[in-house]
Amino acid sequence: MQNQHTYKLIIIGSGPAGYTAAIYAARGGLKPLVLAGPQPGGQLTTTTTVENFPGFPEGIQGYELISNMQKQAERFGATIQFETATKVDFSATPKKIWVNEKLYTAPAVIITTGSRSRTLGLDREQELWNKGIHTCATCDGFFYKDKTVAVIGGGDSAMEESSFLSKVAKKVYIIHRKDSFKASKIMQQRTRENKKIEILWNTEITKYLGEKHLTGLELFNNQTNVKKTMEIDALFFAIGHIPNTDIFKGQIDLHEQTGYIAAQDNVYTNIEGVFAGGDCVDHIYRQAVSAAGLGCMAQIAAERWLQKNISLTTI
Ligand code: NDP
Repeated sequence: MQNQHTYKLIIIGSGPAGYTAAIYAARGGLKPLVLAGPQPGGQLTTTTTVENFPGFPEGIQGYELISNMQKQAERFGATIQFETATKVDFSATPKKIWVNEKLYTAPAVIITTGSRSRTLGLDREQELWNKGIHTCATCDGFFYKDKTVAVIGGGDSAMEESSFLSKVAKKVYIIHRKDSFKASKIMQQRTRENKKIEILWNTEITKYLGEKHLTGLELFNNQTNVKKTMEIDALFFAIGHIPNTDIFKGQIDLHEQTGYIAAQDNVYTNIEGVFAGGDCVDHIYRQAVSAAGLGCMAQIAAERWLQKNISLTTI
């Protein structure tokens, strides 16, 4: 068929997990295809300097790190297509992946589609992105040394992010819409004992303030109905993540509540020959380096599965 393209291995997604899988697969001679997706490079491209990826003592820009990974994968023979998978059918082997009318097939697939931070979606959010509005304290908190910052959320992430920020910033506010946290007791306790952290209960953010950089927030107290503004140097979202797994619904097992891929032994989906790695599976660690590690693990599992089950000379 003219519009059908066959590979031994297709990797869906091009963040650190996808490119690490591609580097390993390409070096192993599998000539993988990477479908880069709607945000090539993934979440790393939305951050500035990455200072905690081992091997870069001076830090490296997120886009440069991911573009290096891409070049490394291409050097060994990976094909990168800047296309987005629109539909999949994993009910038989070879697995089918469509990009609109175009059909790609492969006996093995690795899903590394990542996740995105839930945000408030208020006016000017995109304009102020990385200019005071952030999603990862471990990545960007260091830029706010001795400044005043806020974290929004009431789960374990909000506790963890605020604790991390309190080691760097002068003052940390947690802004939470309810009068109690859903975070685990132990994490709540640590937060309450931290003198640098102040909690604003029953509080919602209604507006971002500042021209070129975030300088403050307009807040609404949903108990007293009082609005006020506060000066702030940065806001960190900790209101959950949304895995990019919509097209896999009905094809592989996803966790019912959260939509994350339900993987066994980190990288095996419930479908033979379909593996997963990175933030579409891991909702806890969510680091570039841990995603890269999971991408590597998924690829090794995929390669072993291919060796055992598929005669690669015929593909
Ligand atoms: P959660 O879903 O647990 O918490 C999200 C928080 O954000 C909730 O408090 C929720 O409010 C709030 N929220 C959601 N939407 C909005 C909104 N639109 N506006 C304002 N607030 C909103 O997500 P987490 O990322 O905190 O945690 C995810 C998982 O990862 C959990 O299982 C957690 O235990 C785990 N985790 C574990 C850690 C650890 O053990 N070290 C560290 C970090 C995460 P409300 O309470 O009103 O619903």
